[in-house]
Amino acid sequence: MADYVVTGATLIDGTGAEPVANAALFVHDGRVAWAGPMNQLPAEVRKADEVDAAGRWVIPGLIDAHVHICWNGRESVLDLIHRDRDLIILEAVDTVRRILETGTTTVRDIGGHDYVEMSIRKAITAGHIAGPRMRTSGKVIAMTGGHAYFIAREADGPDDVRRAAREQIKAGADTVKLMATGGAATPGQDVMASQLTVEELAAAVGAAHAMGRTVATHCHGTGGIKNSVLAGVDSIEHGTYLDEETADLMVERGTALVLTQGVARPDPDKVPPGQQAEYERLEKIFDALTERTRQSIQIAREKGVLIGSGTDAGGNALAPHDFSMARELECLVEGGFTPLKALTIVTRNNAGILRWTNELGTLEPGKLADFVILNADPLDNIRNVRQIHAVYKGGTRI
Ligand SMILES: [Zn+2]
Repeated sequence: MADYVVTGATLIDGTGAEPVANAALFVHDGRVAWAGPMNQLPAEVRKADEVDAAGRWVIPGLIDAHVHICWNGRESVLDLIHRDRDLIILEAVDTVRRILETGTTTVRDIGGHDYVEMSIRKAITAGHIAGPRMRTSGKVIAMTGGHAYFIAREADGPDDVRRAAREQIKAGADTVKLMATGGAATPGQDVMASQLTVEELAAAVGAAHAMGRTVATHCHGTGGIKNSVLAGVDSIEHGTYLDEETADLMVERGTALVLTQGVARPDPDKVPPGQQAEYERLEKIFDALTERTRQSIQIAREKGVLIGSGTDAGGNALAPHDFSMARELECLVEGGFTPLKALTIVTRNNAGILRWTNELGTLEPGKLADFVILNADPLDNIRNVRQIHAVYKGGTRI
């Protein structure tokens, strides 16, 4: 790959630093080799090919820390599991391409289907199909009849949960995902109810950490969040009913909170065909979750909990994969974060939660050249992350 230098754009590097106007980004061998103001560009770099980005903005590729690529987000998972497996695969191929085209260059699949997501990752890595870099969790682990049991490896008791965690790692999981409370996508469940016990969760944590993997738990109710933190999990997904005491514990133990706000705020004008009843079922639950999540964010910010963010796209019939990280950024800004802070959450912070900071999340020398060139200023209006001029992954334009 030929070296090139992106010139003239305003650079937002993902570290949280203020933007650099009239910047240069030198890409060598698919990685960032130099980034900074144009007038400080080293002399030898000036001979490289130039990509003129004057009047535009460069941001790191977005990272979605919570997504389900096997599900299309237009139909419920309960319906999709009965579909022909080949069709699920072919649709996932289309989904990952669209995710990449909207500027999300890395995702963490946090609940797959029959290890289809593992094959999709292999196909992306091999270059057979276009898609983001991926972390995967394999099958979610739930207690018998627990949240999303219909796609889960059901497990009961510490020994069985430990074995279930090891099965996912054997299949290729980077993260073990467990259900610590009920969930909205499973009809008839109480989102406040705790599911797996501290002992069961801790068994999975022990197995995962021994193999260098992380653990994430789906949590709405306070009890499940607390159980997870006490068990030593690495990230709390959703975290709807976080309280101050548990937030203190998260800071103490370094537990991250992965917010998923957009999924609970579907656009009433864009309800997919045939999903009106599902919309009506979920609307009230979602309103309550959204309302309480605002409080959780406030508590997490005040206490200094590490915050990440994901779309949960695919997680239900009202969660499409279209520009969903943009939606997440908009929700973060509505939740009180500055656009710069919101961008830092979905780049640097998410890279940390995915244990990928050595290569991703910021546009600093040595990192993979995953970046997006925008036609409008995302710090002026976060909606401008939808104004995509070009997406680069590993230095190659998509
Ligand atoms: Zn999810």
